[in-house]
Amino acid sequence: MFYGKCYLCEDDVSDPVIEHFIPHEGDPAKKYDWNNLYYACHRCNGIKGTITDILDCCDPATDVFRAIKCLCPSVPDDKITVEAQYNDSKTQNTAGLLDKCYNENNTGIRGISREALHEKLFEYYCKFIVNRRILKSRDSLQSDRDRAMEHLTQMQDVSYPFSVFWRWHVASDAFLAKIF
Ligand SMILES: [Zn+2]
Repeated sequence: MFYGKCYLCEDDVSDPVIEHFIPHEGDPAKKYDWNNLYYACHRCNGIKGTITDILDCCDPATDVFRAIKCLCPSVPDDKITVEAQYNDSKTQNTAGLLDKCYNENNTGIRGISREALHEKLFEYYCKFIVNRRILKSRDSLQSDRDRAMEHLTQMQDVSYPFSVFWRWHVASDAFLAKIF
């Protein structure tokens, strides 16, 4: 059930909207098809609109994580990095859509929702950095290291908010990649 997260931005949303993966206009069957109903936040639902030909996170044969790299900025206002790892159209379209979901601020309300999204992501990123530091520091107690390992393991679980970021921040970091 999407782990209570928006299927596009991975924010945990308490007031989700129903997103139609394949737009339902003029097709009542698509409107009520259970397999076409995706869990999304208001912001991403509005940005996706009628875009089609994107990677399907519900398809077990599709590894969306490997297809699109996402990294946090070093300051909250900067652009979130979204990079397609493959050249096919589905991957390119999905990366383009996610870039908009994370960064678009072309209207007043999108500027506000972008800021809220970035602040939330940054809060988790701080937690990630603090735990990385505990693992890296020679001064850390073993009990603190164990807790830091637990936190970083939990953050990489698919059910965790914004997990794609924490998995890519581990994969892109030689020190953490060796551990995990
Ligand atoms: Zn979203």
